[in-house]
Amino acid sequence: MKITGIRLTEVQGRLEHEGRFWEERLVRPVDVYADQRSEGPPPLARLSERVNRVTSIFLEVLTDGSLTGLSGPVGADQAWVIDRQLKGLVIGQDPLAIERIWDRLYRFAVHGRKGVVMQAISVIDCALWDLKGKWANAPVYQLLGGPMRDGLPAYASALGCSVRPDDAARRARELVDQGYTATKWFFRHGPGDGKAGMDLNITLTRALREAVGKDVDLMLDAWMSWDVPYLTQIAPALAEASPRWLEEPVLPDRIASYAEIRRRVPFPVAGGEHEYTRWGCKQLLDAGAVDVLQPDIYWAGGISELLKICALASTYDVQVVPHGHSTPATAHALFAQPAQLCPYIEYLVKWNEIHQLFFRQPLKPINGRIVPPDRPGMGMELDETKIEQRREVSS
Ligand SMILES: [Mg+2]
Repeated sequence: MKITGIRLTEVQGRLEHEGRFWEERLVRPVDVYADQRSEGPPPLARLSERVNRVTSIFLEVLTDGSLTGLSGPVGADQAWVIDRQLKGLVIGQDPLAIERIWDRLYRFAVHGRKGVVMQAISVIDCALWDLKGKWANAPVYQLLGGPMRDGLPAYASALGCSVRPDDAARRARELVDQGYTATKWFFRHGPGDGKAGMDLNITLTRALREAVGKDVDLMLDAWMSWDVPYLTQIAPALAEASPRWLEEPVLPDRIASYAEIRRRVPFPVAGGEHEYTRWGCKQLLDAGAVDVLQPDIYWAGGISELLKICALASTYDVQVVPHGHSTPATAHALFAQPAQLCPYIEYLVKWNEIHQLFFRQPLKPINGRIVPPDRPGMGMELDETKIEQRREVSS
């Protein structure tokens, strides 16, 4: 079997939602600049009061047989890199020899070890695993040695939800009522917002802990936007809420700051969402920078690379809870990992409404758990009835 092409298709459909979909955005590192700080959450294209327009790009690996591999949605910048730079290296290859293809792409893209090119390699890798699962007529996790458990506890990640304390408390209680035993919330304020912003962050944290009670894991995410002095000041108040972890307190390159924060604060520190490959993650592990490592399968090198990162992290006794860009790809990888190493799967409650919109059978938690899908490959099939327009974006 040989790969004959990579097809990138942009599809459009509609997402029904009462009111504004993205209610709030998280704090960003660039918010130290006042003009950036005042920007609101990104609007979805709206067709009417209740209907939003969603546009996604999907990648298919085509072969000279009947098998194809699917992954996505893929970012437009990644699609461009795949079409213009990487496609030629993949065509003509044996699609089952995934390790060989990964290594060829990695050795070719020497400027792409981190960032958009590694994201592009990641989604090609995931499409190849989908194809291999279909070839074997088995779910991907079976090819990887799973399932190791009959369900993955999902933590509900509240990206895009309002962080007004009353709204957040109500939503957090709803998530617990839906069966989640853990939920993650995102701060809106950082060093640029002064003491008033810090007080709002603290008020939010207290409201959330009070809302969910003491037995639910509460995670907090600073999305790379704080620094060591800010952390030193806010840590005692956050500690009162006993967070399961504080995520990405500083920019990814500031590994020494991570380690310093981890020494200073009395709760676990998580990071690695914006790190790439086993070599990037190893730097965080060697520095003692994180208690929880969070590579994203669609960014850090695909399923093939996540397996290596998990093996590496296990030698440091550091847990891996991947960032949840793609729920299907992440679930298949985690069903082949032990619960002690990978205790949770992240489920972004709003993001998945967009990311899995075009799937015939979206993979969603039931009562806070994701159960192993039994369909071959990743089990991701596009639902033609949800696609209103399509166009090929590959050359
Ligand atoms: Mg995060």
